[in-house]
Amino acid sequence: MMVINIRDGMFVGINPILNCNLNCEYCFLHSEDSKKRISEQKNADYHSAHEWYEGLVWLNDNVNTIINLDIFGGEPLLYEDIGELINAIPLEVHIGLDTNSIKYERLSEIHKDRRTHMHLLISVHLDGNGNIPRRYHAAAEKVKELGFNNVTVNFVAYPKQIRKADIVRTFATEYGFAYHLEPYINYNPVNKGIGKFDSVDDEKYAWDRFTEADKSGLIKLKKRKYPIKCFIGKSYLLVMENGNIFNCWGKMMAGEKPIGNIFRKEISEIPDEIDCNVFCVCSQNWRDGFS
Ligand code: SF4
Ligand code: SF4
Repeated sequence: MMVINIRDGMFVGINPILNCNLNCEYCFLHSEDSKKRISEQKNADYHSAHEWYEGLVWLNDNVNTIINLDIFGGEPLLYEDIGELINAIPLEVHIGLDTNSIKYERLSEIHKDRRTHMHLLISVHLDGNGNIPRRYHAAAEKVKELGFNNVTVNFVAYPKQIRKADIVRTFATEYGFAYHLEPYINYNPVNKGIGKFDSVDDEKYAWDRFTEADKSGLIKLKKRKYPIKCFIGKSYLLVMENGNIFNCWGKMMAGEKPIGNIFRKEISEIPDEIDCNVFCVCSQNWRDGFS
């Protein structure tokens, strides 16, 4: 695996759309804090692929070189210009697309050369009986037909469904996709972070299945003494659907003020270290995982 120095370039997460066609109980969109912000942001203008592209070029030139662009939401395949946006990004930038795959037909709008370069993350959400809905099989067939060759099936280690993790892994293996069990984090900072499992056995079941990188990230998060100094600085930025820029997910979830706006092309000076008092989903953990 290529080793990327944390200062060598920037990871940017963008949410071109906050709407979703699912309603997952654990989603960050449902925390009280998120609901408030989402309702405030609901009327934000729609921003075209061209506007996003211009904004990203500006970030790249004025903050740091973008080496990784993660596109999520909401559900990014509901974003009208998703194909146009992805096709416009140079191949040197590693793109990740995180989708629930309901609108999988739209993946055909992504050019073939992009499909073979990007990372497609299909987040599986089980039905009410805890089974894998049939549409995921249809989506998996389509993804293979279209030639995506870097695909990961992601399953959130949500306490109520944790015992289904192996079913999802079997599904991923069946199609030759990688599998990732995403540590469930309670996305509401007020609840102080990592989800509580229903029993000690369930918790052990989950921890036995997390990757080493995830385990060390979670342990680090639990052991932190706050406030801490964070180096995330110019190495990670999150951009919401209205263009507001945050240092990271944690800062956004904690309801802190944006540090700029990608469409207005304004950003405040980013110090090398920032103070953090957020015990919540932490972009540093994910950014760390690549170094
Ligand atoms: S599919 Fe993803 S964005 Fe949509 S509600 Fe579920 S977790 Fe949230
Ligand atoms: S939440 Fe994580 S990434 Fe964000 S400032 Fe705090 S330590 Fe850094």
